[in-house]
Amino acid sequence: MAHAIKQETSDPYMYQPEAETMPREQLAALQLERLQKVVAHAYANVGHYKKALDAAGVSPADIQSLDDITKLPFTVKTDLRDNYPFDMFAVPQDQVLRIHASSGTTGKPTVVGYTEGDLNMWSDLMARSMACAGARPGQVVHNAYGYGLFTGGLGAHDGATRLGCAVVPMSGGNTERQVMLMEDFGASVLCSTPSYALNITEVAEQQGVDLRKTNLKRGIFGAEPWSQAMREELESLFGIKALNIYGLSEIMGPGVAVECDVAQDGMHGWEDHFLFELIDQETGQPVAEGEPGELVITTLTKEALPILRYRTRDITRLNRETCACGRTHVRIMGITGRNDDMLIIRGVNVFPSQVEAMLVGLPNIAPHYQLVVSREGTMDTLTVEVEAVPNTPEADYDRIAKEVVHHIKSMIGVSCRASVMPPGELPRSQGKAVRVRDLRNK
Ligand code: ADP
Ligand code: ZN
Repeated sequence: MAHAIKQETSDPYMYQPEAETMPREQLAALQLERLQKVVAHAYANVGHYKKALDAAGVSPADIQSLDDITKLPFTVKTDLRDNYPFDMFAVPQDQVLRIHASSGTTGKPTVVGYTEGDLNMWSDLMARSMACAGARPGQVVHNAYGYGLFTGGLGAHDGATRLGCAVVPMSGGNTERQVMLMEDFGASVLCSTPSYALNITEVAEQQGVDLRKTNLKRGIFGAEPWSQAMREELESLFGIKALNIYGLSEIMGPGVAVECDVAQDGMHGWEDHFLFELIDQETGQPVAEGEPGELVITTLTKEALPILRYRTRDITRLNRETCACGRTHVRIMGITGRNDDMLIIRGVNVFPSQVEAMLVGLPNIAPHYQLVVSREGTMDTLTVEVEAVPNTPEADYDRIAKEVVHHIKSMIGVSCRASVMPPGELPRSQGKAVRVRDLRNK
């Protein structure tokens, strides 16, 4: 991509260099020691884990090596729901200093809690993540992740504070004002979902603000899947380097893994605090090295909510090669999506992020899209809704739609329809974007 990125030289500045570059053998020894502790803690203090381990015929004393983790049962989202609100907590109520909950579109939310130690660890890991992504002490961090029960806002807030940055606690929404303050306060770092970042670029353009001329240098984007094409789009519109950050409330919140500024190639998962496995979704068995699978995470140091072998439903690959930045921690090679976001259209598996990768960058269409799934007879049909870029003659819409259909068929292998809309028709993201409208059960 031939666009100017306002970046300082990538130096591998580290917030906790000893932990981040720990030799693998030492990291493994630390993981085993911590795994034994957390299994004992969960078994002794969480009714659910006592029952689940007893039922699986495994006791904390059976964990003698890291491989023994496969003896433990998985934890799934419904385990948290079934123990709503606080029965998964492993500490007395008066030691819980913060409660968050996931958005939970259906039914009860999943509730998570943090001790003082947990909040400290989270701030440290988020500070570590932000530094890894190129943020530096003394910079202004514009935080547009939603504040509230969602872990994004407060997670990034505490991490930036811990790193020694000046945080602007914007949250989502009020986008005109965001643009003005980003420019006036000279933010170096923007934290937001990638879809909301895109919304910001559009509003800035309407306001006549050239974001490439601001002080902004890094975007730390996550909480939803986004494609390489979207990264290039955002990097060029902002004139920044965009880094991917990953997390989930059940495990901690943002800061579980992040791309480094040096390699920008896969997210370092912090293995001194989490144990990462990749399993075959069907069999639950480990996948071969380098193969895609479902990410399973065990917390190694969490006090209030220890979680053993959490099935994230997120699909990725792991890379254990040493990274150019010098960090030794495993890399999570992007998240294609959750397996529950996967659409099956006429027998073809499709992730919204694959469609995004196709659409963003196509001439004449704006980087906004929605996928509509409906049923006709026994067949599921996919309609891809896109927007024409401003000033496209309506006479061209038909031709553009045909191009979209053709590209998706040839690259993803699925037949779909495309609907081209005038600029501004599709909903704009305020946080996590809604990519799929499922009309099948309506
Ligand atoms: P909710 O479950 O309500 O969406 P969370 O904030 O806990 O709330 O969401 C965590 C989920 O968000 C992850 O399991 C994953 O599916 C998604 N996610 C987070 N970060 C990323 C990322 N960088 N890329 C892709 N998906 C992500
Ligand atoms: Zn790296």
